[in-house]
Amino acid sequence: MNKKYIVVVGGVLSGIGKGIATASIAKIMKNYGYSVTAVKIDPYINYDAGTLRPTEHGEVWVTNDGGEIDQDLGSYERFLSCDIPKRNNITTGQVYKEVIDKERAGEYLGKTVQFIPHIPQEIIRRIKIASEGYEITVVEIGGTIGDYENIPYLFAVKSLSRIEGKDNLAVVLVTYLPIPSHLSEMKTKPTQQAIKQLSEHTIFPDIIICRAKEPLDDVRKSKIETYANIETDFVISAPDVESIYEVPLNFEYEKLGIKLLNRLDLSPKKKADWEKWKKLTMGIINPKKSVKVAMVCKYLDIGGFSLKDSYISVSQALNHAGAHEQVNFDIKWIDAKEIEESGTDCLKDVEGIIVPGGFGNSGIEGKIEAINYARKNRIPYLGLCLGMQLALVEYARNVMGLEGANSSEFDRDTPHPVIDFLADQEKILAMKHYGATMRLGAYAANLKRDSTIFKWYKETGRWEKDKESIKRIKEEFRLGIIDQKEPVILERHRHRYEVNPIYIKDFEKEGVIFGGYHKPFDGEVLMEFMELPDHPYFVATQAHPEFKSRLEDPAPLFVGFLKSILFK
Ligand code: GLN
Repeated sequence: MNKKYIVVVGGVLSGIGKGIATASIAKIMKNYGYSVTAVKIDPYINYDAGTLRPTEHGEVWVTNDGGEIDQDLGSYERFLSCDIPKRNNITTGQVYKEVIDKERAGEYLGKTVQFIPHIPQEIIRRIKIASEGYEITVVEIGGTIGDYENIPYLFAVKSLSRIEGKDNLAVVLVTYLPIPSHLSEMKTKPTQQAIKQLSEHTIFPDIIICRAKEPLDDVRKSKIETYANIETDFVISAPDVESIYEVPLNFEYEKLGIKLLNRLDLSPKKKADWEKWKKLTMGIINPKKSVKVAMVCKYLDIGGFSLKDSYISVSQALNHAGAHEQVNFDIKWIDAKEIEESGTDCLKDVEGIIVPGGFGNSGIEGKIEAINYARKNRIPYLGLCLGMQLALVEYARNVMGLEGANSSEFDRDTPHPVIDFLADQEKILAMKHYGATMRLGAYAANLKRDSTIFKWYKETGRWEKDKESIKRIKEEFRLGIIDQKEPVILERHRHRYEVNPIYIKDFEKEGVIFGGYHKPFDGEVLMEFMELPDHPYFVATQAHPEFKSRLEDPAPLFVGFLKSILFK
């Protein structure tokens, strides 16, 4: 069959759920039996999201192949239950860099290199590379159609439709219908303007997804029909939902899947089965139980919106683990600085504590106090990357008596740098090369069979059991020496610092169990997981397992965290 493309663009406002709409469309197509991938276009000049502050742009998502990407790619993976590579994120920075590099290399053979056609051509080349091996590619263009920076991308969509043929590319417009409080009436005018703006690029939407607080009534649908010259059947109502995982179900209620398939001249390859998805979504919306856990973090000072977005993968991973048990996680967001100022009283009412990833000095001591509280009071603890480093700092100081122990990230002169630079990072930082220079992406780790963590990887079926998958890891990742007799798992990373090898034996002597490790081809063995015995659940990892959590396949350590709270 011809390759098919579905392009999702935004009208009126950004931040209305275009990423979730894209993920949902991709999921629906996959459920009809097609092989599907999704691409995110970010029209900013940054090469990638690696150097963006989480409070500015939400969390930085990390792919298996080490890309540092906009969080929308995370939604795609969470919905599609598959790994999406970094090539599926296109930024204006990448496009221009490639064009200029080619020009410098003489590849344009003396021609004048111009905005049109060379920039859209490069955009199309990138979309096509990302679509290799898939029947349907869903492409989301960030921002809204009126943005200046979207012009080359809209031009590229137009060209792609011409090159591939009209039957092979559908355009979905995601728009917003406000209900101004003084009118209490849903207004279609901004949507009409968005349609007009899109038509100025000679692009006409095949489907309009209308985001609004409430469902769209027939009057508004026909208003849009008249204005956009598109039948009401193709105007899809997308009211606010309690859980993002309801979105594909609501779209299917409006038969979006079949309408899109028809538009692309396709028919379903199989009956779409939503049973499991529905059950899990109900587990989130109608939980039987709620557990309160503290998230002790630092990117909280810019308000509620960024707070949620800076840790979106962690809260989604909790959601996923909860969905399978019909448990709601009631997250108490705690700014670590608050603990530094007023102590750990704010932890008294929680049943579990998480210290997620982070960079820089602020709030570090507060996090260490929270970890100390979890250890001493036998409260289930999950440490993610920084959360593992600080768990070891806490242990070194308070159990091993290593006064002033620290990570050299926070105290260059600490007498006990139990967490220290990766060997090659010193040079990188001295040269101020901050972009894409951390230990990034998926690394294989061997697990010890008698560890708590292995128990959870085994229970969730998340370890690489067969020779084939280990062979694939070796071919794809080539990132270390794998002991095939021991269990192997893959998790994603994003950090510069590591457990200092000099202290490993001392930690072990004093009771710390390093349940998983990574052996590079050159250099020291790296500790990837730690746990404490005689504690209901004190588990931490140098990785970010939240990046591999999906609604249908929750992350093992989050499942373990939840179950240890439930069955404590
Ligand atoms: N700042 C720490 C490091 O660079 C931890 C990073 C993280 O939590 N992702 O190693």
